Amino acid sequence: MKKTKPLAPGSTIGILGGGQLGRMMAMAAAQMGYRCITYSPEKEIVAADVCADTFQNAWDDRAAMAAFAQNCDVVTWEFENVPVDAISQLGDLLAPHPRALETAQDRLNEKRFVEGLGGRAAPYAPVDNRADLASAVERIGAPGILKTRGDGYDGKGQWRIRSAHEVDGVSLPAGPAIYEGLVEFDAEFSVILARGRGGEIVFWDSTHNIHEDGMLARSVLPAPAIVAAQVDEARDLSRQVADALGYVGVLTLEFFATAQGPVFNEMAPRVHNSGHWTIEGAVTSQFQNHVRAILGLPLGDTRTVAPAMVMHNIVGKDAKTAHASLSDPATQLHLYGKARALDGRKMGHTTTLKFD
Ligand code: AMP
Repeated sequence: MKKTKPLAPGSTIGILGGGQLGRMMAMAAAQMGYRCITYSPEKEIVAADVCADTFQNAWDDRAAMAAFAQNCDVVTWEFENVPVDAISQLGDLLAPHPRALETAQDRLNEKRFVEGLGGRAAPYAPVDNRADLASAVERIGAPGILKTRGDGYDGKGQWRIRSAHEVDGVSLPAGPAIYEGLVEFDAEFSVILARGRGGEIVFWDSTHNIHEDGMLARSVLPAPAIVAAQVDEARDLSRQVADALGYVGVLTLEFFATAQGPVFNEMAPRVHNSGHWTIEGAVTSQFQNHVRAILGLPLGDTRTVAPAMVMHNIVGKDAKTAHASLSDPATQLHLYGKARALDGRKMGHTTTLKFD
């Protein structure tokens, strides 16, 4: 991005993707007097409820993308699988720089990149065919997980392999894949940081992230001692990743806390589900600091405001009874406005701050 002065209130932020992350980002932007417009090919664009305008077009519709760009002072994304080729025409409007997308969209690149900066990952091998898988399982051992290299989210595009005998029976994904050894971990946590245009970095507290069926179920503070003991090392690595990418905005790195120290799992070059608690639980939320960073504004204080907190995801048809959570006055309910409560679909979340 080329701007040196902060963008003035009333400026327009373009958001690529139209899901709940964009919706919460637009709400944070509106608070500070900025307007947002979205671009997404999806049928259901829940960010549109809180945005000034919506472009519902294919990623490769160059004319529509140009018209969108005409209306934007800066463009960011809330969806990490935006095709990088399709947005190259946005040039200097983009923040963060799309090299972050390129790195994170391929699990193999991402691991090599982070290892190159001194990070530790689970043992892995690229898998393009069954012979690759057989030799990967032989070298790394089983159990392990076969994952698509791109397009995965919430545990989708992943297959557990319990023993070498399963290699012949597993149906391989259509595209390139990666086989990872199963990490024995004590806890999962993420480092969420915001990096401003001048390279300044702030971190939020790292929650204990509890996954069910490959999807985040809860984020909890305070995190267990093993997480607290490994956060500094994980932050050092995350800072290096952000600096190496010349990153501007919120960046998330997910880790396993193990007996050998923090093991890098994956990164998301965007605001993250494990940071939703920051809306009520931190002085400045991840959404507001992302917006501040891309606009060139000073970053806000990230300190946690309560001694304890739990964020619960609301998934699938649980959304229908989610209002019952309001019987606890300390609970804040967020529903994302999705019409169809399909199984495994993130519909909302609650955040409960605990002061005693
Ligand atoms: P991912 O989409 O790669 O973040 O995977 C989703 C979840 O699956 C993670 O948060 C872990 O709970 C689990 N998982 C993924 N990869 C591994 C691994 N190599 N070892 C152990 N658990 C894993």
